[in-house]
Amino acid sequence: MITLRRNIAEMAGYVPGFQPEDAASYIKLNTNENPYPPSPQVIDAILQEAGEGLRRYPDAASRLAREEAGKLYGFDPSWVIMANGSDEVLNNLIRAFAGEGEEIAYVHPSYSYYGTLAEIQGARVRTFELTDSFEPVGIPERYDARLFFLTNPNAPLGFAYSQRYIAELAGRLSGVLVVDEAYADFAAENSLELVRSLQNVVVTRTFSKSYSLAGMRLGMAVARPEVIAALNKIRDHYNLDRLAQAAAAAALRDQEYFGRCVARIKETRGWFSEELEKLGYRVIPSSGNYVFATPPDRDGARVYQGLYDSKILVRHFSDPKLSHGVRISIGSREEMERTVQVLSQLGPAR
Ligand code: PMP
Repeated sequence: MITLRRNIAEMAGYVPGFQPEDAASYIKLNTNENPYPPSPQVIDAILQEAGEGLRRYPDAASRLAREEAGKLYGFDPSWVIMANGSDEVLNNLIRAFAGEGEEIAYVHPSYSYYGTLAEIQGARVRTFELTDSFEPVGIPERYDARLFFLTNPNAPLGFAYSQRYIAELAGRLSGVLVVDEAYADFAAENSLELVRSLQNVVVTRTFSKSYSLAGMRLGMAVARPEVIAALNKIRDHYNLDRLAQAAAAAALRDQEYFGRCVARIKETRGWFSEELEKLGYRVIPSSGNYVFATPPDRDGARVYQGLYDSKILVRHFSDPKLSHGVRISIGSREEMERTVQVLSQLGPAR
């Protein structure tokens, strides 16, 4: 008989977006991946690294990648930590700041994995609902949660909070405000300046979306050196392998390629949103590489199934706050044209 910790025995575990075995036969718009390949310079860097040197451990400090990030964002590398996907750094933030029974908080709906990580740790979770104009409701004037995760832009809804709101929220918290900027490269603003100016703001980023590197598992956090030092104590010492470190540095260096891909996705997002509106869908203006769209009959499951039957995968959430719509990742222009075509056949007419 094995005896698990009670919270592990009781928790359900996180279910990631569906990855079909025959992914190539689908138009895959369900996990916010990038439709474009990584920069050719990234592929070159990985291939260069994939040789005899792999018998050696990687640089435990991921120095080159952190230096590139520091240069790009204007921070000393002591303010940057690299991670094996941003999920790793989210996990380590909880381990660093929230002990058993202590409170962490986030907005519902946003990224539910924060809740899973808290359950593993045995931390308590408090969530705050959104008004119709996307304001979190009921956050106390002085709030002593150990960590507050704010997904900005919000996922899966796509709206963005203002920097003024984020600064004001940080001022109300005695704990740490983690701004999860997984999608910030597709938005007009980000909170890196707040990391500099406020004591308790941490920004997390991923390479999975805007850098087309979901398969490499790369993320990072920008925070005060005291926070980075704490996270360094917790992480696996070789959390990034040699290929990942080479890929991260090359991706950050090739801003020209990055900028072109992001611009294309933003352009397609604008076009696709307009097309959805012409079909009678309600579309939340999106600052991410996805849109949350509600059909006229508010039956998200029907739209999901109709697209699935035509080999187009999107995300439908059974959560009552989200089940009326679908989240559709922005793919290539051709993929989105095909999606519009299938949606227009699905109806219903208004
Ligand atoms: N934060 C948010 C809001 C996300 O949607 C995701 C991707 N599912 C992540 C973090 C994790 O990204 P990754 O671990 O691939 O870097």
